[in-house]
Amino acid sequence: MTKMRSANHGERLFGRFGAVSPIDKAEPNQEAQPRRAAVPRPLLARLVWPVAFGATTLLPSLPAAARALACPADALGVSRTLELDARGGFQVGLKSYPQTLALEDREVILTFDDGPAPPTAKILDALASECVKATFFLVGRNAAAMPALVRRAVAEGHTIGHHTFSHPGATLRRLSDQAARAEIEKGVAADEIAAYGAAGAVPRTPFFRFPGFADTPALIEWLSARNIAVFGADLWASDWTPMTPEAQLALVLDRLEKDGRGIVLFHDTKQQTALMMPAFLRELKRRGFKIVHVKPGAEPPALRAAPPGWTSETDKIITDVFAKETHAGRKGKAKASPPKVPAEPAN
Ligand SMILES: [Zn+2]
Repeated sequence: MTKMRSANHGERLFGRFGAVSPIDKAEPNQEAQPRRAAVPRPLLARLVWPVAFGATTLLPSLPAAARALACPADALGVSRTLELDARGGFQVGLKSYPQTLALEDREVILTFDDGPAPPTAKILDALASECVKATFFLVGRNAAAMPALVRRAVAEGHTIGHHTFSHPGATLRRLSDQAARAEIEKGVAADEIAAYGAAGAVPRTPFFRFPGFADTPALIEWLSARNIAVFGADLWASDWTPMTPEAQLALVLDRLEKDGRGIVLFHDTKQQTALMMPAFLRELKRRGFKIVHVKPGAEPPALRAAPPGWTSETDKIITDVFAKETHAGRKGKAKASPPKVPAEPAN
C-alpha cells in the first residue's frame, strides 16, 4: 500500500482528468448473481467479482424507482443529511484547508469528480443498490455531453456540485482571474442546464471544487461573495493512479481506517473505481462506517479545526509540480504548452 499511497503525486498531478478516460472499456461479460451470494472468504476474495458484478449487471435494467423499492433492508443507506448554508462561503477539506466538516467518528462523505463519464452509470448503480447518496463535482463539458447521466444522478437524489467547464490543464491558479471566473461560471451553467434544463443567476447547488485543488485567495474571495462553498477533501483514493479494483479498494479502506472519517474523493471517470464500488460500500457497512449526505440548505456548517501543526498537503504538491515543471522547462524538457496542471491529487 505504501508505494501506491505515495502514488507519484508529482507526476500524476499534471495528468489530464477532465476528459473521459480512454481506459473506460466495456466490462467483461459476467453472469449475474444474487448480490448476497457472498460466502465467508478473505476480504479481497470477497470483494469480488461475483458480488460486484451481481449488483452492476442486475440493476442497470431497472428504472430508478424500482431500484429504490428494491433497496435491501441491510443496505448501507444514508445515516444523516447535512443541508448546508453556503451564504458567505466556507472552505472545507483538510488536504487543503485548516478545517473540515465536523463529522463523527466513522462518518464518511462520498464525492466523485470529473464526470459524468461512462463509468458513472456503474457507480450510480452501486450507490442505488445500497441507498447511498453522494456528491458529484461535474466537469461542465462532460455534463453537456452526457446530460442523461446528470439527470439520473439528480433523479436518484445525489448532489450536483461544480468543477469548472473544461478542467483546464493549467489549473485555475495559472489562469487570469477573469479566465478562471469564466471557467467556473461556464461550468456551473453547463452542469445546471444538464441537470435541471436551465441555469439561473444563482447556482442551485453552491458547492465548488477546484481542479487539482489549485485555488487562489482571490477566487476564494470571489466565490464566497457569491455564496459558494469550496469543497476540498479529507482523503482521496488516488484513483488517478492505475491499479486493479482490488488494490483500489484495499487502498481506500486502509486510508479510511487510519483517518476514521472524512470527505473522500473518488473519480467517476475511472473504471477501477466503478468496479470496486459495490464491494467498497459493502465493506463500509460491514465495518460500521456511516454515510453522510451533503446538500444545499439552511444549516450553518459545523466545522472541525485541523490538528495543531496542520499544513496544506495540496499546496505542497502543487508547488512541487510547478517547480519540477519550471526546472524541466529550463532543461529544455518541457512539453509543449499549455502547461499541464495538477489534475489531482485530486481531481
Ligand atoms: Zn478534477
